[in-house]
Amino acid sequence: MDRRQQHRYDILSLFPGYFQGPFDESIIGRARDKGIIDINLVDMREFADNKHRRVDDRPYGGGPGMVLMPHPVAKAIRSVKTAGAKVIYLSPQGRKLTAKKCREIAELEHVVLLCGHYEGIDERVLQSDVDEEICIGDYVLTNGCLPAIVLLDSVIRFIPGVLGHEDAASEDSFENGLLDCPHYTRPEIYEGQKVPDVLRSGDHKKIAEWRHQQSLEKTLQVRPDLLDERVRLDI
Ligand code: SAM
Repeated sequence: MDRRQQHRYDILSLFPGYFQGPFDESIIGRARDKGIIDINLVDMREFADNKHRRVDDRPYGGGPGMVLMPHPVAKAIRSVKTAGAKVIYLSPQGRKLTAKKCREIAELEHVVLLCGHYEGIDERVLQSDVDEEICIGDYVLTNGCLPAIVLLDSVIRFIPGVLGHEDAASEDSFENGLLDCPHYTRPEIYEGQKVPDVLRSGDHKKIAEWRHQQSLEKTLQVRPDLLDERVRLDI
């Protein structure tokens, strides 16, 4: 058990089975085994107030699809929420998830992630029990389980002790407003393509300069918006 403060994540959904695999394997699985993070999966159907465990109903005003009713959602949130917890609803209507936001969430000790299903959740429970809405990108998924996995995976990388190398996350894309540089490993020549000489030179200053230049060029090519943001923030 790691002696650092443990981060707790409660994930409320209708399909807890969705998370088996992503949360058991690799870096998330190891962080759980080490006791750095604790993940608790909650099935919101457990909070239905009818014998059929029904948690959705037709939308007022008509239209396609179903809407999650407020009572089971509120009861599920309140069953796990602690005084300092932050409740985040994964939603296409939220603010877009960024690396900066992930770092902020990684500082929190207790986070409740609320996954929507069908057309979404009754607005009143969002007003009364949710602190923030977060969107993982400008597209719509069938439910909030994958967005919750994306958020949790991207957040825990910033918790000390989760990645093997403490600086690993700070050298990735989006840190300092740039995309990452290209990476190479053995063999030295692969299908006629050689590893750039500078990377085998042993000159750490030159290697750092080359990597920075490559990052700038890649960012300019595919994400010039990130460079505009760097100028705006004076990085
Ligand atoms: N009617 C909703 C809208 O257009 O904003 C879409 C509902 S979507 C089919 C069902 C659920 O998937 C949402 O309640 C949300 O929890 C989740 N979801 C879908 N796309 C998402 C995204 N881009 N980011 C975060 N959550 C998303």
